[in-house]
Amino acid sequence: MIIVMKPASSSKELEHVIKTIHKQGFKPHVSKGEETTIIGVIGDERKLDPVPFQLLPGVDRVIPVLKPFKLASRDFKRDDTVIKVNGIPIGGGHFTVIAGPCAVESLEQVMETAKKIKGAGAVILRGGAYKPRTSPYSFQGLGPAGLKILAEAKKRTGLAIITEVMSEMDLPLVAETSDILQIGARNMQNFALLDAAGKQKKPILLKRGLSSTIEEFLLSAEYILSRGNYQVILCERGIRTFEKSTRNTLDISAVPVIKKQSHLPVILDPSHAAGYQEYVSDLAYASAAVGADGIMIEVHPHPEKAFCDGQESLTPEQFKTMMIKIKSLVKVMGKRLNKVS
Ligand code: PEP
Ligand code: MN
Repeated sequence: MIIVMKPASSSKELEHVIKTIHKQGFKPHVSKGEETTIIGVIGDERKLDPVPFQLLPGVDRVIPVLKPFKLASRDFKRDDTVIKVNGIPIGGGHFTVIAGPCAVESLEQVMETAKKIKGAGAVILRGGAYKPRTSPYSFQGLGPAGLKILAEAKKRTGLAIITEVMSEMDLPLVAETSDILQIGARNMQNFALLDAAGKQKKPILLKRGLSSTIEEFLLSAEYILSRGNYQVILCERGIRTFEKSTRNTLDISAVPVIKKQSHLPVILDPSHAAGYQEYVSDLAYASAAVGADGIMIEVHPHPEKAFCDGQESLTPEQFKTMMIKIKSLVKVMGKRLNKVS
């Protein structure tokens, strides 16, 4: 249920409404817009009686939210959410390019990639220190040593960092280094991790599960939002279909569908969708054209030697070439490309 306050309502009236919500055993989530303040009342809706709220002073109207996700919904917040990461605005008319290797392998590998992607126009450096691998015999990531490398790369280049967190136990350590915490496709419904991600302050990039519907995806985001962390970036990274020519099928229609239903920023990951380097740039162009708020691209200085996902990684030179067209497409789409000095 959403309570819309009258534009002229006072802060005392708002406080009174919030108190009443608490008294009834529900959690208020206040969103202050330019003209109106709205309050999301979250809890078991079956126990929620809208009538007493309608009668409170300062209340304009009470709207039931029929969608299963509430705080993630456009009904709750009409304007696009913009998330600031190291001063970089993500969402709402800005286009953000994240790039870097699949996995952190060494300081040299990360530094070489970081310098080159920065030179080509990326603003956030990616790289997994903890890797969710299908086989237990594959490279599992450098763990804490990988985080140290990312911290050093940030110090030397000034680039913001995104890296994956796989367990709520690792979250405090990963959050010390990373500016954005990535929750990977395989963990989209790891509810203990979503819960912990919602109870801390770092922005979360939540990837869509391999076989998840958009509704399930938004409900996972809702877990994080409902715990008090409103900084969630959604990432479509390809879903499983019957098609075998690509690793996954990039669901570009997810962008307009999510944008209609939710205010959260949506970025696309063409690398994990394509699975092959030769398709990545074309899918990146489609991502910009479909109205995504950004892209995340795997780049490795020597893809043939990569410990992980080398077949889908662009070389820094290929990334640079791709960025030339991305810059034009972003302009055509009326967005502003985020830049770092
Ligand atoms: C990744 O970004 O490195 C990754 C493992 O992605 P996904 O969770 O989408 O498979
Ligand atoms: Mn990867």
